[in-house]
Amino acid sequence: MSRASGTSGAATSYYEATRAVPLATTPLDGDITADVAIVGGGITGCSAALDLAGHGLRVALLEAQDIGWGASGRNGGQVLPGYAIAQTKLKRLVGPEDARRLWDMSMEAVQLVEQRITEHAIPADYHKGYLYAAIRPRHERDLEEEASELATLGLKGAEVLRGAAIQAHVASPRYRAIMTEPFSAHLHPLNYTLGLGRAAQAAGAQLYSGTPVTAIEEGPVLRLRTPRGTVSAGTLLLSGGAYLGRLWPAVAGYVMPVGTYIIATEPRPDVPSLLPLNEAASDLNFVLDYYRRSADDRLLFGGRVSYSSVPPPRLAQTMLARARAVFPQLAGARADFTWGGLVDITRHRAPQFGRLAPNILMAQGFSGHGVALAGLAGRILAEAARGQAGRFDVFARIPHARFPGGRAFRVPALLLATSYFRLRDLL
Ligand SMILES: Cc1cc2nc3c(=O)[nH]c(=O)nc-3n(C[C@H](O)[C@H](O)[C@H](O)COP(=O)(O)OP(=O)(O)OC[C@H]3O[C@@H](n4cnc5c(N)ncnc54)[C@H](O)[C@@H]3O)c2cc1C
Repeated sequence: MSRASGTSGAATSYYEATRAVPLATTPLDGDITADVAIVGGGITGCSAALDLAGHGLRVALLEAQDIGWGASGRNGGQVLPGYAIAQTKLKRLVGPEDARRLWDMSMEAVQLVEQRITEHAIPADYHKGYLYAAIRPRHERDLEEEASELATLGLKGAEVLRGAAIQAHVASPRYRAIMTEPFSAHLHPLNYTLGLGRAAQAAGAQLYSGTPVTAIEEGPVLRLRTPRGTVSAGTLLLSGGAYLGRLWPAVAGYVMPVGTYIIATEPRPDVPSLLPLNEAASDLNFVLDYYRRSADDRLLFGGRVSYSSVPPPRLAQTMLARARAVFPQLAGARADFTWGGLVDITRHRAPQFGRLAPNILMAQGFSGHGVALAGLAGRILAEAARGQAGRFDVFARIPHARFPGGRAFRVPALLLATSYFRLRDLL
């Protein structure tokens, strides 16, 4: 059963087909009041709702589609510390002290995922272990640098392996070297997001699905308009990610929504032997391959990007070809599911936190690196909404620039940049 894919959300993903967390939500119907309103029911919004409700605040979370419908319920499930921007570049942007704080918070983000899964008994198929794979000589140098950077940051356990040692981790002839590390993990992202939503509900948050926020009236008491009701709130958190779009165009102008795609093969008895230690993996190309095993022995294989909401042609076939380039053992494999989603990429790939008014806060731009980070972002938004903005301000000090010229020009500029990096991937 191969399904049509789409960044529009029309496709059924493997995650939807294996959804295991019951969560009942309805559209908002009527006018309500809350202490804090949240736009967006992904990891960021659900995480903020959970913490705020846990502190006794009245929370109304408004989601245009379903909880976990956006990037949070469609992603590669890779739980990673750090940021999509290299730590060395982050240091140049914000200075060594803030860069160190940001790194430490990214490690906390990973721990927070594990802690919440345990605390709320979320059936998220969580598994620790990760490897980065080098295809080209310059990747090998990058791995060595990365391993020593991790050691400088005080993290022990990263190891660069070559030759036969590689096969114990990934049964592929493709790689010159790999770096394994024990901090990262992988999980079922939709069940994780739904689990956060369910925990937020249990803590007292009101979650509304099928409720697009169409307008925001600013002031000491904010008013959010939706098709069948309004929310009056003292504080607003915007966590619409790549899908925020027209609601606040000035905010959306800082990120480029980029489509990225994943396939799930049929369950296969040989899949466990491809990744014997059940680690998640990615290579070091600019348009990278990332993959992992599912709990029911499929290979979930991600990669490819597009700069429009139309998925690339012959997507399942080309993704299978990419998977076979890594694992020739998959000759004859079929893709049961093919789907896509949008990532919100900032110009330099660092996340963007900001205040749009004294009582309107936002976090976006995780740049394809948000499974762990978005959970912490929600916690930090919640802290700031409760008047403790110290950690929020560390993120808010990261400087950002808009994509020049609006969407019409963002796309060609990024295409040019990507063509250059794709070319580099071949060298
Ligand atoms: C295919 C894919 C693979 C990825 N792989 C990884 C990975 O392996 N590891 C990793 O770390 N990151 C990965 N990412 C990125 C990661 O998924 C995101 O960074 C993270 O999920 C962002 O969460 P969020 O809550 O901020 O946004 P989202 O999950 O996108 O949630 C935003 C929500 O806001 C809602 N919304 C927007 N506007 C409105 C409105 N006006 N009214 C009401 N609701 C609104 C949307 O419907 C949406 O549900 C991937 C992303 C994709 C798409």
